[in-house]
Amino acid sequence: MDDTQVIRIMCPNLGCQRILAVPEHARGKLVRCRSCSTNIRIPVMRNPEVPRNLGTSDEATTDAA
Ligand SMILES: [Zn+2]
Repeated sequence: MDDTQVIRIMCPNLGCQRILAVPEHARGKLVRCRSCSTNIRIPVMRNPEVPRNLGTSDEATTDAA
């Protein structure tokens, strides 16, 4: 196991909708669904409506489920 944070994103292909786990550093990039080969763009911010604390670059670790 490594410490790489993983983003889970659902395939937008309605016939697939597979949950893909992609590494944190894939934000803003395209990944390909292994199930249907659809290219999926990983959003840069997971929760754009949640303001981040300014002044520190510490990443908050969320342990939601
Ligand atoms: Zn897919």
